[in-house]
Amino acid sequence: MRLILVGPPGAGKGTQAAHLSTEYKIPHISTGDIFRANLKSGTPLGIQAKSFLDSGELVPDSLTNEMVKDRLTHSDTSNGFLLDGFPRNVFQAEVLRELLSAKKTPIDAVLELSITNPEIFTRLSSRRTVDPATGEYYQREDDKREVITRRLEVYKEQTEPIISFYRSEGLLITISALGEIEEISKRAIAAINHKTSE
Ligand code: AMP
Repeated sequence: MRLILVGPPGAGKGTQAAHLSTEYKIPHISTGDIFRANLKSGTPLGIQAKSFLDSGELVPDSLTNEMVKDRLTHSDTSNGFLLDGFPRNVFQAEVLRELLSAKKTPIDAVLELSITNPEIFTRLSSRRTVDPATGEYYQREDDKREVITRRLEVYKEQTEPIISFYRSEGLLITISALGEIEEISKRAIAAINHKTSE
C-alpha cells in the first residue's frame, strides 16, 4: 500500500500516520521528522533546512525532493510506504508521480485530514512534541503563534493546490480530523480500504 497523508499543520497527520503505518505494515515517512533529525544532529542538510523550519517556510524543493528520492530507495519501502508532509506543493507532487511511474509503483490513495483554522490554533499552540532520543517533551519553534500563522498561509498558498491535483487523479479521500484519535483512525482505515477496493 502506497499512501499520502495531506492536511494542514495540526490536523493530526503524525498521530494518524503512526496508526496507519501499523495497520498496513508500511514505514511512516515524515519529511518534517527527517528534517528535524538532521537539524538536531547538525548535518549539512539540517543546517541548510534550519531557517526554513524555524520560520514556517517550505525547505527548497531541490533539497526536499532529493531527500525523498533517496528515502524511497530504502528496502523497507518495497511493500509500500506512507508519506506524511510530502508532497507539499504541486511541483513536488509532479516529481513524485514521475518517480513512482518510472518504478511502476503508483500511489494507491491520498488521505486528506480536514480541519478548521481555529481548531488548528488551539491544537498547535498547546502541542508539545516528544524528542525520540531523550523521551522529553518540548515546544517546537514552529508551534509558536506567529509561526503557526505563517505555516497556515504557506499551506493555503502552496499545499492546498495538491488537493485538486490528487482529486483530478482520482486518488483523493477526505475525512474529518475532528474527534477522538481512535475514532479518526477507524474512519481513515475504512475510507482507505473502501477506496483501494474500488
Ligand atoms: P511538518 O513536521 O510536516 O509540519 O514539517 C515541519 C517543517 O519541515 C515545515 O514547516 C517545512 O519547513 C519543512 N518541511 C516538511 N516537509 C516539507 C516538504 N515536503 N517540502 C518543504 N518543506 C518541508
